[in-house]
Amino acid sequence: MQQKIIIAIDGYSSCGKSTLAKQLANELHYLYVDSGSMYRAITLYFLRNSVNIIDKKQVKKALNNIHLSFENNGETGKSDIYLNDEYVELLIREMIVSEKVSEVAALQEVREFAVAQQKKIGEKKGIVMDGRDIGTTVFPHAELKIFMKADISVRVQRRFKELYAINPTISIDEVKQNLEMRDYIDSNRAISPLKQADDAIVLDNTNLTMAQQLKLALKWAEEKILAMGIMNDRVIKQKKSNKEEV
Ligand code: C5P
Repeated sequence: MQQKIIIAIDGYSSCGKSTLAKQLANELHYLYVDSGSMYRAITLYFLRNSVNIIDKKQVKKALNNIHLSFENNGETGKSDIYLNDEYVELLIREMIVSEKVSEVAALQEVREFAVAQQKKIGEKKGIVMDGRDIGTTVFPHAELKIFMKADISVRVQRRFKELYAINPTISIDEVKQNLEMRDYIDSNRAISPLKQADDAIVLDNTNLTMAQQLKLALKWAEEKILAMGIMNDRVIKQKKSNKEEV
């Protein structure tokens, strides 16, 4: 049987992490989890319930009332997030959530809540998860870690296109400011800041097409899967020969 690995994809906002993660999961028949959607859904709950994020008691109480779940969407092939059984995939992408999410995601209680669930989802391996701290905190032993980068102008254009399709009143400046603000908060927070894991492979996709980046990442994944299979075969052989010697 083919060995299953964990693939952790981290990087700055709008680098195309989720696009690559989705495609990789699809090719390998793995589960894809968008960890950012969890922080976004928590933020949506906080906004709706006017949770004061400086008040630890309020934050803890709110988290106790949050249940996050994923359901596979047959049409997109992606797992959609549900907040207390409500479909919130579209609502969590709105600017009002994007403006607040990095502050919410910097809270210790929120990180502990989300990371515990992410670790649990990855227990069986065969997973591609993207985010900011997946290779450093959630799965520090992931077999493949990819750290994605792209020039800010390219990232702004990509994100603008996505958002403009939903909201034509959005401006390029608004998108740029939001990306820069999130990158700053995500990289400078005290707990699990966004940073490249020492053993991550850097993927700068400024000048790559989606097909080119997928080809590269698939090659890395296949190498890791093969290496893991060889390693496991060696362990089995070693155990057998140890038994025979006794
Ligand atoms: O990936 P996405 O841009 O949707 O994530 C939204 C926000 O959630 C990020 O800007 C970051 O503040 C937070 N996040 C995080 N850790 C993760 C994933 C996302 O702090 N693993």
